[in-house]
Amino acid sequence: MTFQRQTPIALISIHGDPDIAIGQEEAGGQNVYVRQVGKALADLGWPVDMFTRRSHPDQPLIVHHSPNCRTIRLIAGPEEFVPRDQGFPYLVEFVEKFQQFQAETGIQYELIHTNYWLSGWVGLELKKRQLLRQVHTYHSLGIIKYQAVSDIPKIAQTRLNVDKLCLETAERVVATSPQEQQFLRELVSPIGKIDIIPCGTNIDQLGRISKAEAREKLGLNPQEKIVFYIGRFDPRKGIETLVRAIADSKFRHSPELKLIIGGGSRPGCSDGLERDRIEKIVYELGLNPITQFTGRILDEDLPLYYRAADVCVIPSHYEPFGLVAIESMASYTPVIAANVGGLKFTVIPEVTGLLCPPKDDLAFTEAIDRILSDPDWAKQLGEAGRKQVETQFSWQGVALKLSDLYTQLLSQPAKN
Ligand code: UDP
Repeated sequence: MTFQRQTPIALISIHGDPDIAIGQEEAGGQNVYVRQVGKALADLGWPVDMFTRRSHPDQPLIVHHSPNCRTIRLIAGPEEFVPRDQGFPYLVEFVEKFQQFQAETGIQYELIHTNYWLSGWVGLELKKRQLLRQVHTYHSLGIIKYQAVSDIPKIAQTRLNVDKLCLETAERVVATSPQEQQFLRELVSPIGKIDIIPCGTNIDQLGRISKAEAREKLGLNPQEKIVFYIGRFDPRKGIETLVRAIADSKFRHSPELKLIIGGGSRPGCSDGLERDRIEKIVYELGLNPITQFTGRILDEDLPLYYRAADVCVIPSHYEPFGLVAIESMASYTPVIAANVGGLKFTVIPEVTGLLCPPKDDLAFTEAIDRILSDPDWAKQLGEAGRKQVETQFSWQGVALKLSDLYTQLLSQPAKN
């Protein structure tokens, strides 16, 4: 129903600025998700405003991405980077600024889509103050995260409560994989409505050039066997497992083996400390001559790295969805992933890649060796991956599903 597409939608992503450079401190999948979903929904005709917190005084308050799609930065708390575990105290101010924005512009949002628990709390609070429908995407679940870390932050109990309240009271929760839906049901609450709508990827930008061309553009040797990691430097990402697996590979002493580790970090911050730790292990294992740390990989170079690689490894201890898996598959590159979370949904073992138990260095070594030993099979895996992404994981397809959901919710009266 087109008339409903005139209704402005607010995507709220307080700590995941959709307009920020991806690949450094805490900027990753959520930022990509909000930006791509926002743009694709706007292409379908929805006026989309993506609200985030301003984290630097130089950042423009409003960025226009397309005639229908904007990033709007509200000033709530200090105009500097605030780690997500320390963001809670600024949420009341965020709610007030959101309402002030509505009053000043005359826009009254009837549907908000909140991302991550901080925005989820803002959504719950807004619902007490005005009539609207809330759709919520978790991106990460407190209950799973705290099982995996030893230093549980003070905010943990608040987060667990908000995770539960969002599921029980939002009009709809969007789980990005059946695995996430199952965790929500079993570990968070039996109450509340969940739809499964996956994340997507930009199928038009990835997989456009050949492997030979990608390597030439990046100055990489056409003969090398390239193993690729990309993502944030965070112990949860399991980069150590990959490094140790490479050290035991049967190609370890071949001059052709190369490990490329991509992702940004800032010295002294949590990701910088993790990168230092990984570099130290690389050095101790004598892998420095074959390892390249690229730093943050820009959007325009991502398709080249993904395509140049022979295999992309995602050794995460936990991954709610894992955009990297579908980006790699869209680039015809097979994936070896840990058998966790959304990766179990996106990677089909022996068809588009291989799955290994998390933290199991030996299993990763065997999987890497299998794929590097058989380029014809690797090519088949890559082709199957591309096909799977084309049919299931395009941003346009994701936006169509969200659009149907919004239309359905807007046709029902809002309750608070
Ligand atoms: N990414 C990037 N440049 C980098 C590192 C990461 O563009 O240097 C992107 C990557 O392509 C992917 C996202 O960051 O789109 C990471 O998302 P994922 O879901 O894999 O992990 P998360 O960050 O949510 O834990």
